[in-house]
This record gives sequence, structure tokens and C-alpha cells, in this order.
Amino acid sequence: MGGTKKRTALEIIRRYDGPPVRIMEVCGTHTHEIFRLGIRQILPPQVELISGPGCPVCVTPIEYIDEAVWLALEKKVTLCTFGDLLRVPGTEMSLAGARSLGADIEIVYSPIDAYTYAAAHPEKETVFLAVGFETTTPAACLAVKQARAAGLKNFSVLTANKTMPMAYASLKGSADVFLYPGHVEAVMGTEHCEALVAEGVSGVVAGFTAKELLTAFAVILAKYPLGKPFFVNCYPRVVTSEGSISGKELMASVMEPCDAEWRGLGVIPLSGLTLRPAYAAYDTRKKYAVPRLKGKVNPLCRCGEVLQGKCKPSQCGVFGKGCTPDHPVGACMVSQEGACSAYYQYGGME
Ligand code: SF4
Repeated sequence: MGGTKKRTALEIIRRYDGPPVRIMEVCGTHTHEIFRLGIRQILPPQVELISGPGCPVCVTPIEYIDEAVWLALEKKVTLCTFGDLLRVPGTEMSLAGARSLGADIEIVYSPIDAYTYAAAHPEKETVFLAVGFETTTPAACLAVKQARAAGLKNFSVLTANKTMPMAYASLKGSADVFLYPGHVEAVMGTEHCEALVAEGVSGVVAGFTAKELLTAFAVILAKYPLGKPFFVNCYPRVVTSEGSISGKELMASVMEPCDAEWRGLGVIPLSGLTLRPAYAAYDTRKKYAVPRLKGKVNPLCRCGEVLQGKCKPSQCGVFGKGCTPDHPVGACMVSQEGACSAYYQYGGME
């Protein structure tokens, strides 16, 4: 049989001789996997990888930690939280610091665990710290729905839920190509990514295995030199154009869009989710009249710039010195999905 031999993803990447390209790993899990799988070592020198805001713990503003500390110490509620949040510095202290002062804090692995905990401890006022993107928000909504169905009175949710599409739009121009997070797009679908092409924004959705990531990079390096904005779904076994209809319906039935503050990015209109009025009884801020707190970030920390791709973790003056996973100065060094923790773990100093 004649015809041109099809090049493998690896060959396309290795033989790239096109122009320099800045690719934003929007999602922290991609940052970690690309390091862990050794993909950085095989990318050509024209490819620059920059981190983005796709780590929910990292983009949660410091005031949220302050609110949680206030609830635990002043209102004596029991906080149910994912473990990542425990050591994120607040203005005065982290949740771990509050715990050492007697705060009651339970580590949970899902919002449903928090609901189950509240149901099993009716004597405890229980607050779930709902930090997350579209990947975890449906489960938080389910927990609230279950709590209402069961008539639970001791359960509420401190929302910091965020949605990625508005963040993509606000990051326009900060990279040549976005590596979109496969798990977020599995829920949201790719229509908003497709729409961004008309605004000149290129991107590909990528999965998380070596093969899926290499395919995504090969597609970028094949398309970028052509000079036209593009979008390709390189994770079609999981991601569709319409996303998860049931997941989106569940979120829309319990939560509604609101303006949200992102660490480093400021307030992005309609990029957050808050409980609908019908679920106000489960809204922690309303239930406890949580005051508006003005947080203060450590001035040495450059997480805000890291999350916008303006600064590499290794360019932060305290990276690996004053700031390590054991003694984090900022959220990006704490979270499993944080760029600083990835650079520290895998020795990325470029
Ligand atoms: Fe913040 Fe530490 Fe990262 Fe610097 S190294 S940006 S202080 S988390």
C-alpha cells in the first residue's frame, strides 16, 4: 500500500521546528502529571509550559480561610473539609492552627461524607467547606439536596464553588494555547471552548494518561504553526460537546451563578456558584451571619502571579527556602494540585 506514513505523537513533538509556543496547563493535575510522567523532558525548547488557575484550593481567596477559622473558633461549629485546605495559610492562622486551638475539624473525602457526618451527629452544627470546580460541585449540590430531603437542621455549606469558563475568557492573551482540563470539560462540555476560537483563543482538551497528554501536545504542535485559532477535543472517550446534562441540571437546580473572587485574578463576574434562595437554610454565611472579613496575604507570596502564568514558582523568592510543603507560605505549595508543590516535588527550577 502506498501513501504517507502516519507520524506518531512522539515524532511530531520531537521533530517540532515551528515558532515558540506558550501553553497554559490550566489544571493543576495536568501540571503534576506532566512533571511526573517526564513529558517536560521530551518537549522541544520552543515549548514553554506555564501554570494556570485550575487548582480550586489555590484560587480560593484568603478570606475564605479566615471565614472558616472564625466559624470554628467563634461559632464552635464542626468543619468538614478536604484535607488539602487544612494547611492553607489564612490571615492569622490556617485551619490546622485553629485545630491546635481546639477547633473541631473533620477531614472528609466527599461532600456526601460531610452530610453523613452531620446526620450521624445531630448535636453538632456541621459546616462543609465547599471549595471546588465543576468536578466536585455536583456532589456538594447532592449533599444539600439530601440534607433538605432528610430535614437535617445541623448541616450547611460555606460555598467557594467556581466555574472555569469565565476564567478562560479572563485569561485570554496570557498563553498561546490552553490545555483544558479533561475532568471539568467532562461535566461542562466543550461548547464554551469552541466558542472561544472565534475570539482567537486556541486550546485542546486533554486527558491525564501519558498517551492522552502526548496526543494533546502533538495536536497543539501540528496546529499552532498554521497560525489559525483552533480547538480540538483530545479526550473524546470522556468529554463530549454537551458535557454531563445530569450534572449540569443538578448544579443548576441547587446553585446559581454569582460573582466570585479568585486569588490572583480578582473578581470574575458570574464565575462562582452560590446556593439558590430555596436552599438558603443551608447557606452557612446566612445561617451564622458571617461578617465580611478583609484578609491579608503574606507579601512574599507570589501565588497570585503563579496562577495567572505571570511567574514560575521557582521565580518566587521564597520557593524551596522559606516556603516548602512542610512550611507553606502560600496555597500553591499546599495543594496536591498546586503549581508550587509540583515544582518542588519534581525539582522544576526553570
Ligand atoms: Fe506562594 Fe510559596 Fe509559591 Fe512563593 S513558592 S508563590 S510563597 S506558594
